[in-house]
Amino acid sequence: MSTDRSLSMNATIPVLVCFDVEPDEREVDIDARADWVGFERAAALIDVLRPRMEAATGRSARVSWFLRMDPQITQVYGNAGWAADRYSALFDALVADGDELGLHVHPWQWDGERSMWTQNFADQSWVSYCVESAFAAFERAFGSRCRAFRFGDRWMNDETMALLERLGVTTDTTIEPGHTGTETPDAYTGTFPDYSEMSCLPYRPSRHDFRSPSEDGFDLLAIPIGCVPADWVSSPSVGASAALLNGAADYEGTLDAASMVEIAGWVWDRSQPDAVFDVEVLCDGESLATVGATGFRDDLADAGKGSGKHAFRLATPNRLKDGQPHVIRVRVAGTDVYLDGNPLVLQATADPDSDIITLYLDQHPFTFGLVVDRLLADPTTVVLTMKVRCDFATSTQRHANFRGNIEHLLAHPLARRFEFISPNEFAQRSQTPALASRP
Ligand SMILES: [Zn+2]
Repeated sequence: MSTDRSLSMNATIPVLVCFDVEPDEREVDIDARADWVGFERAAALIDVLRPRMEAATGRSARVSWFLRMDPQITQVYGNAGWAADRYSALFDALVADGDELGLHVHPWQWDGERSMWTQNFADQSWVSYCVESAFAAFERAFGSRCRAFRFGDRWMNDETMALLERLGVTTDTTIEPGHTGTETPDAYTGTFPDYSEMSCLPYRPSRHDFRSPSEDGFDLLAIPIGCVPADWVSSPSVGASAALLNGAADYEGTLDAASMVEIAGWVWDRSQPDAVFDVEVLCDGESLATVGATGFRDDLADAGKGSGKHAFRLATPNRLKDGQPHVIRVRVAGTDVYLDGNPLVLQATADPDSDIITLYLDQHPFTFGLVVDRLLADPTTVVLTMKVRCDFATSTQRHANFRGNIEHLLAHPLARRFEFISPNEFAQRSQTPALASRP
């Protein structure tokens, strides 16, 4: 098998940044015709960040914008192409910078009797109509065919993938491996595909099951959003026990969380702010794991806790998700110094969707950084694909997270090898059987 695309070589590392451009509210107010403030701010942010992305990588930087142009937009805004009209100058500028525009479709249907929106995944004729009408609106608005696609809420099926191929789509970035259902709180019909057995390697989707690769599959490249198993996303041990480093230590720290996702907190030595050391996590009195308290958290830096690089995170092991209460304690490794907040009681049941962590650009930078670093350490990785819904920019916290995550990429030791490109640029470079047929 060819390994010439492995990131272990000196090749550039493609980074795909995908924005979903849609109304800020998921449950769109049918009478409001509200501007898409999240998109306005996200575009302004990229305007500021792009020169920095180019300076850090030494090459031009491009991102991708996936627009909503489906019947919900027509119903609320009077025109599927509303965003293209409203923000025409903005889109012109983004395209001039080399960004790719694509479509993002949700099959929302208005139920006038109950005065609510439902995503109607169950009715294929409705789904197909949503997709086809969006493509027609895209072509009217931009005078060119849409080539890049992302369905809403990571939903997809074989019929829709076949329709995308007929419509001339060359890349699809819908799939989020690991997910088996949806976390969407709102109404829908139909079922969500099971992605639990999938990896995030790009592939040509089989005509019989779009989740499987096939050399004679659809004539388009599926590029899943990057992800890693949740239990990989723990801060690595630094192999240093603090007591050995400093006999007169002055520790301060807290166990912040013991949830079905993570056991997390922070600790530092006030007498020696730059010391790096491990913490030991105990479960029901037994040692569970040793992880490094070295991750950066902006709230720690803001609170004057040294450099802010004192956070630890242990992905909650699946075997603790048995519905039983478990007592979690954390101490500085090699000492009897327990953090504030000890103990916490963890009570969790198994949930497949919590077993994976996906590269969302508005997630906490500490977690994002761990996922990026794990993907880059994995020799099978060929691309870093990440997404965010533009409404992140209307939230102070998620906006700060996004900035922190881009900063993590720009400050990364491999940043000179990063190349911010569009899905179709990536696809054009990947037209090799070796890539398409990889499992
Ligand atoms: Zn969406």
